[in-house]
Order: sequence, then structure tokens, then C-alpha cells
Amino acid sequence: MRLPDDPAAGGRAVRVRVPGKINLALRIGPRRPDGYHDLATVFQAVSLFDEVEARALDDGRVTVSMSGAEVKSVGRGLDNLAVRAACLLRERWGDSSLGAALSIRKAIPVAGGMAGGSADGAAALLACARLWDLPLGQPELLELAGELGSDVPFPLLGGCAYGVGRGEQVVPALARGTCHWVLALAPSGLSTARVFSRFDDRGDAPESTPAVPAALMKALAGGDAATLGRHLVNDLEAAALDLAPGLRRALDTGRALGAIGAVVSGSGPTVAFLAADARRADRLAVAISSEGIAQRVCRAQGPVPGARIVT
Ligand code: C5P
Repeated sequence: MRLPDDPAAGGRAVRVRVPGKINLALRIGPRRPDGYHDLATVFQAVSLFDEVEARALDDGRVTVSMSGAEVKSVGRGLDNLAVRAACLLRERWGDSSLGAALSIRKAIPVAGGMAGGSADGAAALLACARLWDLPLGQPELLELAGELGSDVPFPLLGGCAYGVGRGEQVVPALARGTCHWVLALAPSGLSTARVFSRFDDRGDAPESTPAVPAALMKALAGGDAATLGRHLVNDLEAAALDLAPGLRRALDTGRALGAIGAVVSGSGPTVAFLAADARRADRLAVAISSEGIAQRVCRAQGPVPGARIVT
């Protein structure tokens, strides 16, 4: 379907809303010859959303502008996953006249372990595919997303998903109920590559193939928040704590204040606290805010749907 032209803004546009994620379980295996690590993970999409708009440019350029918190630290060239997504799509389609002006409104923390950059890459793929009328379905988009980065396919799916390989092979996971989260955001980000490298240096990798706890999958499928909270696990947590020692106090404080689960999200430094219900999560958010252990505290819930075109 073609969207109506908007002459005032110069060309038609497609806007996509995309969620951030928390890894409920992140089990990491040894370093592979290609430098990546095999892993087994359970992703949950949560209600912090970025928006990516792609507006048609007929001169073949791909440009990006950004608004929202912390965007000064985000690159505007090929280091930006949204730009790379648009360029990859154009290259594969073999039409160098396809261009797009991307505008990204960020709410997902930058370099926070919630896959914000990957979410923007996924959203740009979807937005540009629609903008340029390319006949690509979800399987093709997932394939391209996996080329862009390990965390890029999941935001296309959303909900809860089981991930293997380097994280790019995703299948939906059964989940019942709603998780009520309190997120403690740190003042500065952590580099995923650095956290993995610290993981290697510590010798944290097991010999065996990583697997997510069966008890966690069962609790997720049964909507049992208390058991889920006890089984949240992140093998990168110790490495992230080495690089950002203040996170230890955040984890301990949240637990002491009544969180039923606490885990560093992905490669950090965002810390995710699970609460038993929405009311307790609101109270926990206020209590954590007043402890001054985070630069910003926000509420989120999951699972939520993946990247969607909005009008
Ligand atoms: O795939 P992506 O570009 O997001 O990964 C960023 C970095 O994180 C990689 O360069 C690698 O150092 C590390 N990584 C890893 N194993 C994974 C995923 C990421 O070592 N499964």
C-alpha cells in the first residue's frame, strides 16, 4: 500500500515504532573462531519505544537525524545501525537511486544493554522496505537483520523469544501474563564488545553448550512471576560489574527494596528489577529513585509487540 504524499514535508514517509528488550536469561558459551560467542537467551520486548521515520529522497542519499536523550553520543554514519540497515537494503535491491531521510526519536537508553541501536536498525529495515515498496516478508527481513547485528532480528518479532547462535536466530517463546519492570538507567553506557572481552579475560566461559534454565521457561509459560524472578540470569553480569562496579549497589538496593528479581540487562549497564505487580512496581520505582543509585529510573512492562508501522 502506498502512503499518501506529504508535499509540505517533501516526499512520502513511513514511521515505525520499535521496542527495547531485556534478556531474561543470557547464557554465554566460549569464544568462537569468528570472535563471537555462541549463546542461549530469552528476550522479552519491553515498553520503551524508539520511533524511526523514513522519508523518501529521490537522489539516492541516506541521511539520519536524531532526537531524545543521550543522542549526542550516537554516530550518524555507517556506525549507526539504522543507516547501515537502509544502505544494506538498497545494496541488496540493486537500485542506487533509492534514498531515505531517517529521523530517529530515542527513548531506549543508548549503549544501555537494551538493544536500542539494534532496534533502530530493525525499524529502519521495516520502514525502508515499505517506503521503497520492496516485496520482502518477515523471513527476508529477519535474514537481513541477522547480517546487521546479533540483536537486530529480535525487535522485528517482539513478544518473548528464544535466541541461539550469536543471538540472531530467534523463535517465539511461550509467555503468559505481564512482567512489571523497574529499570535503573546508568549515566554512561557500556560497550558490548568490551563486556564480552572482559568475559573472556575473566575465564567465565563454560566448556559446554549454553542453555537457558528450564525452570525459567516454565515460569514464563505459566505466568509465574515469583519463580521467573528467582531464575533471571545473565552470564555477562560479572564482566559488566567489573567495568561498572556501581551496578552491584544498584542490584543489592533493588532487591532489598522488594524486587522479586534483579538482573543486569544484556551487556549492561541498565539494571532491570522485576516486581510482583504494577502497584508494587510503581512503589519500587519511587523507592529506587530516592536512593540515588541510578541516573534515571523508569517503569516498563513486557512482553509488547515488535516493530510496527504506525500512521
Ligand atoms: O553483533 P553485534 O555487532 O551487535 O556485536 C557487537 C560485539 O559484541 C561483537 O563485535 C562481539 O565482540 C560481541 N558479541 C559476541 N558474541 C555475541 C554477540 C556479540 O562476542 N554472540
